[in-house]
Amino acid sequence: MGKLGGFLEYNREPRKKRSVEERVKDYKQVYEPIEEDYITRQSARCMDCGVPFCSFSCPVNNLCPEWNDLVHKREWKQALENLHSTNNFPDFTGRVCPAPCEGGCVLGINDDPVSIKNIEFSISERGWEEGWIKPQPPKVRTGKKVAVVGAGPAGLAAAQQLNRMGHSVTVFERDDKAGGMLVYGIPDFKIEKWVVERRVNQIKEEGVEFIFNTEIGTDYPAEKLEAEFDAVVLTGGAREARDLPVQGRNLKGIHYAMDFLTQQNSINAGKEVPADERIDAKGKKVLVIGGGDTGADCVGTSTRQGAEAVYQIELLDKPAKERTTDNPWPQYPQILRTSTSHQEAEAFAKDEEFGVREWSILTKSFEGDGAGNLKKFKAVKVEWVEDENGKKTMKEIEGSEFTLDVDLVLLAIGFVHPEHEGMLEQLGLDFDECGNVQTDGSYQTSKAKVFAAGDMRRGASLIVWAIREGRDVAEAVDGYLMS
Ligand SMILES: Cc1cc2nc3c(=O)[nH]c(=O)nc-3n(C[C@H](O)[C@H](O)[C@H](O)COP(=O)(O)OP(=O)(O)OC[C@H]3O[C@@H](n4cnc5c(N)ncnc54)[C@H](O)[C@@H]3O)c2cc1C
Ligand code: SF4
Repeated sequence: MGKLGGFLEYNREPRKKRSVEERVKDYKQVYEPIEEDYITRQSARCMDCGVPFCSFSCPVNNLCPEWNDLVHKREWKQALENLHSTNNFPDFTGRVCPAPCEGGCVLGINDDPVSIKNIEFSISERGWEEGWIKPQPPKVRTGKKVAVVGAGPAGLAAAQQLNRMGHSVTVFERDDKAGGMLVYGIPDFKIEKWVVERRVNQIKEEGVEFIFNTEIGTDYPAEKLEAEFDAVVLTGGAREARDLPVQGRNLKGIHYAMDFLTQQNSINAGKEVPADERIDAKGKKVLVIGGGDTGADCVGTSTRQGAEAVYQIELLDKPAKERTTDNPWPQYPQILRTSTSHQEAEAFAKDEEFGVREWSILTKSFEGDGAGNLKKFKAVKVEWVEDENGKKTMKEIEGSEFTLDVDLVLLAIGFVHPEHEGMLEQLGLDFDECGNVQTDGSYQTSKAKVFAAGDMRRGASLIVWAIREGRDVAEAVDGYLMS
């Protein structure tokens, strides 16, 4: 335990952010660095509960009470070793994880939960600063060859684990760098790309081979992988974006969120985007459709690009401020969250009639100017009514139709499943009822030597789940190869 009764002495303190005015001028990390004293105070709040619900709530089952205690005693190196025993990339999760651990923290029942994510972040940063994070190449090679397709967090975790087990791992990636959504989806203001690069370098130095700009199924036949490798791990993500097939969808100015975000991340990385392909929010009235993380990232990016106005709408009801009775502890709290991007957009909002964020709105159509350019968004307000079985259905509210002047619409309504065309069709794999790659409990697909993990198997999810599945699939592949 950090400190007996520490939770009575110290309150949870939010992590310091750069001012809104300063941070919207660039794409750099929103948060200020964390001081050591802050962490020793915050770790002192851990009660070292007999049953660590935080660990059970964490998808990689991080041993949070143990490293809280170590950090409180300033035993940073041991804390790092402990953290790495369950999580390959605490520097990613310490920045972008929604922290379900904190939803399960026992202190959170009647107080603010322990700042577990910030402590995790600090341990991994300390590890890099001190030079404790070093390549760990295997001492012995097994002679088995494994191909990993896709270098997102699931593929990176799988590759690192399999390589450390002694297998020779080759990662095929269609992008020009590793990281998946961490690099080409999530904006730099949430995770700067050097954070991913230093991990990829560690993995390379451990002996994993990366082949970039190579799409399996197009540049390299999928069957060839099966012939050349002892096992194949598919970690290609779930990239088939959900569309909104309403009237006017094809007008100029309506784009998928991922196209918009990927472009800005590419520009930040120093790449040229041809002017006629550029999706630019500067001076525009931007409407983001979809109230999730991807939508919030579009809000933050639009503000930074200099949008005249930014709105975000969601079909579902506005979440409650506090947990409701049907969402008790230790479940993940389904409550209203205001991201740093929302704070920024709200600080600059001029329109008092239509807020930055609006809920319970159903898109009806888009209207153009006659030359094919988007000009208006038409929608109706809805209410969600519960029937006698507790099932909620949507009803349009009569007379609540409205229009909004917009020049740019970003569709952030999720991903349906992995792309089937190409690699997956060539391999002839089975899909589950959602269209994700079907596996058994050992991550094995309908083909014996082909395994799948991460978003490609579970559908669009979280970084921490991708890491968990990458670690688990590595165990399963090792069992298959060595049995
Ligand atoms: C905008 C956005 C914001 C998000 N924010 C968060 C957040 O804040 N916190 C969080 O926890 N999660 C967030 N997520 C979700 C998270 O990014 C994903 O759940 C996670 O990246 C999934 O990891 P993955 O390795 O399974 O797939 P991905 O990260 O999608 O990686 C898949 C990789 O496979 C490659 N690939 C695909 N097919 C092929 C092929 N045939 N040949 C070669 N390479 C291929 C792709 O190029 C890609 O690099 C966000 C997602 C988006 C889109
Ligand atoms: S990985 Fe996420 S859930 Fe797990 S301890 Fe870290 S912040 Fe919490």
